[in-house]
Amino acid sequence: MLTGKTLGGRKPPHSPGPHASHQSHDRGTIRVFHREAKDLYDEAFYEIAPGTATNYPCTQKELNASGGANRRTALDARNSKNKTKWFAHPNNGPFIDARVSAREIFDHNNPKRTPSAAEDEAINRLTTGLETAGREPWGPDLAIKAFCDLDKVFFGGRLKGHVCLTWKPDRFFRRDCFANTFYLEDGKCVIHLNAHSIFFLPGDGSSFGQMFSTLLHEMCHAYERVRALELGPTGWSVGRADGHGRNFGTMIHAVNKRAWDLLGLKGDSTLYLRHDYAYDDDPHPAPKQPPPQNPPPRNPSRTAASPKSRQDLRDKASRNVSLDSGTDYTCTQSDLDATGGLARQEYPKDDHGDRNACRRKWFTQPNHGPFIAPRQACWDIFKHNDLCRKPGKLETEAVERLSKAIAAGRRGSWAPDLIIKAFCDLDTVFFRGRLRGHICVRWLPDWSAPGSTTWGTTVLLGEGKCAIRLNADTILLDHRRPFERMFATVLHEMW
Ligand SMILES: [Zn+2]
Repeated sequence: MLTGKTLGGRKPPHSPGPHASHQSHDRGTIRVFHREAKDLYDEAFYEIAPGTATNYPCTQKELNASGGANRRTALDARNSKNKTKWFAHPNNGPFIDARVSAREIFDHNNPKRTPSAAEDEAINRLTTGLETAGREPWGPDLAIKAFCDLDKVFFGGRLKGHVCLTWKPDRFFRRDCFANTFYLEDGKCVIHLNAHSIFFLPGDGSSFGQMFSTLLHEMCHAYERVRALELGPTGWSVGRADGHGRNFGTMIHAVNKRAWDLLGLKGDSTLYLRHDYAYDDDPHPAPKQPPPQNPPPRNPSRTAASPKSRQDLRDKASRNVSLDSGTDYTCTQSDLDATGGLARQEYPKDDHGDRNACRRKWFTQPNHGPFIAPRQACWDIFKHNDLCRKPGKLETEAVERLSKAIAAGRRGSWAPDLIIKAFCDLDTVFFRGRLRGHICVRWLPDWSAPGSTTWGTTVLLGEGKCAIRLNADTILLDHRRPFERMFATVLHEMW
């Protein structure tokens, strides 16, 4: 959402004010053909076709991709179960982390990147379109006609087909609002531009510039909805929208900077917080957030990092794992047996026969499946780890035990047996409990090849059984943060 306040100046009165567009040669204020605000406002609700109103080269297909014939009732899409009416294709992702998506936009708008041929063409169409608007009448349809090109140039073309763009009258918005981006679920959005706020801009602000600056701002919001995992298919319903956080700030900064360089479009002047990497070569960096009053130690396990305590950890790794010694963690003997039990000190030789023998000796029950395709397994785990899923009672208890042990471990109170005791809980929480009884976990002395470092490996024992081996020397003696490394290695190998 972009509010009037952020750009300085209150929302204009409801009666048509003085005309908004003006001509100037200043860089950043595009020279535009004068249009009366009232006319622009009225035209905002006209139907849009490639050959009418503003002269901008775009196809009917491009107009359809951003809402097409349904544009004038786009708000209804929010309540309609069937979005196919609005969008020809579903958004099948791939979805990524919101932080990664911000980085993606930052990198995409790096001035040093060489644009593709298609992107160059889009840049040329935009440049020509803006020049034409200086000589010929232009209208609100320009924002919609240029949408696919703006998407191509600033957002890698990832919004096309997932975002509907439409003009709306003032009553659809909160006070002082230039626009809104609504999430429609399933990775789809609708952007509403407030025709009243944008065209009856107070003072000598440029409606033309405001139209583009507002649109790019909303496209950044839309990108998070369409592309990012946390804010994707289910994010909206749990209120995890990033709003104007660092991810958003990083994107809008990169987009505005490039829009200015390429097209002379002046973006939103608000200073948003950004990720650290986005402060480079910026003469006026936004204020960084002050450090917290009591910063957490950067290296929580350093307290346990003296050579003596490291050697102690290493020694403990080769001890037997039992309920009444080592780390205090609530688990059962059955949990310990399920991950290899008594045979923990053994390891299969590197041949087929020995692996089969170990498998039979270590696991009491065979793995009867059901087995599924790797893609399905991947999807299962993805769904299982969806933040919106409500965990069951057993899972909630496992989360509590793990949280307690991790908190204690970070204070230095842990031993290597923790990872074996916690394995069944990690399995319950992250892998639906499907690994239990089929995986043996053990610490072993360093087996890395000379010149390389191995944290852990998974050895297939056949018939759906595996052994995860953790490198006691590299993790416990050498790594800067043995506690974190231990968990990271096991979760990696569990997958
Ligand atoms: Zn916003």
